[in-house]
Amino acid sequence: MILRRIRGRVHRGWISKLIVVVCPSFESIRGTVLDVLFSGAHGFSALIETQIEGDEPHYTLFDTGPESKSIARNIAAMHIPVEKISRVVLSHWHSDHSGGILSFLNVRRQKISSLGPNHTPTPPPCVVDLHPDRPIARGIAPNGPEKVMGQLNPDPTFEEIEEAGGVVEKRGEGHAVAGGGVWVSGEIPRLTWFEEGLHIGAVRFFEEEGEAKGKWVLEQHIMDERYAAIDVAGKGLVIFSSCSHAGIVNVVRDAIKTFNRPVHMIIGGLHLASSDLLYRIAPTVEFFSTKMRPSPTYVLPMHCTGFTAKVALEKALGEGCVPASTGMRIEVVGDREVDKGMFPPVVEDD
Ligand SMILES: [Zn+2]
Ligand SMILES: [Zn+2]
Repeated sequence: MILRRIRGRVHRGWISKLIVVVCPSFESIRGTVLDVLFSGAHGFSALIETQIEGDEPHYTLFDTGPESKSIARNIAAMHIPVEKISRVVLSHWHSDHSGGILSFLNVRRQKISSLGPNHTPTPPPCVVDLHPDRPIARGIAPNGPEKVMGQLNPDPTFEEIEEAGGVVEKRGEGHAVAGGGVWVSGEIPRLTWFEEGLHIGAVRFFEEEGEAKGKWVLEQHIMDERYAAIDVAGKGLVIFSSCSHAGIVNVVRDAIKTFNRPVHMIIGGLHLASSDLLYRIAPTVEFFSTKMRPSPTYVLPMHCTGFTAKVALEKALGEGCVPASTGMRIEVVGDREVDKGMFPPVVEDD
């Protein structure tokens, strides 16, 4: 596989491999296949393996799922080489994505200590790449911020992450990681008319200066959200958008603007599940199928996409809509020769 190497906002050179692991290949499973059980949970986590031709592979964990047990179980079931994962990227501060960070770091630390001090190569420190604007708390208040119905589990703090062995890196701007092979976005511009953020009374807790208690405030947009993109030679962009609070059309528009490359694959939660968001399904599908040229080759809707949106995507994209969940391993093979014949995409304005 050949991927392009990304440097800053401009990509030059070549990478050679992209593997997304939400499950192992059968060849990598030792013992009987029936022993291998995975744990699905509400949230998102994907291990991204990228390789520039001639270089060593890089392992980047994009989100960690909602809690400590599912990620630990899946790492064990998949025989993930956790000691090689040198970066965890958190898409946004919601616990269904951040809930496994500390568990992952603990599993990694245990694995490294079991390998002993003389293990080579020496496992690199694990950077935890986070948006600097960590909320104190987030919750849901459909009847207004005075009546908070539910609070999300707390995200791990920067201090807890450091104590668990992570090297906290606070990044609010777009940047390239994994040897230049994975692009982590900055703030996603909100441009699309129907992607208006959260409707259901999402709230965030703010401390107030001089006041002991602080207060809950309506929060329509999750501005700390980031997507990841990998540019595969001969294929185009593979976009990871975990929860798409910003709107998947906004995400795709920004990725195309950043790279000027066609979209090969979209993986993640498209945030179209709840009844108040159903009106967004038709224009989203219309954007994929008619307003961007070429259309994405594959869309892998997961997490918060919702059944109705999946059906609509399948109707519009056919086999280009691939059901996905815990238990998948996706390999994207690049091709330099094919890349020479590729053209920049065209995207219609709203
Ligand atoms: Zn979220
Ligand atoms: Zn989510």
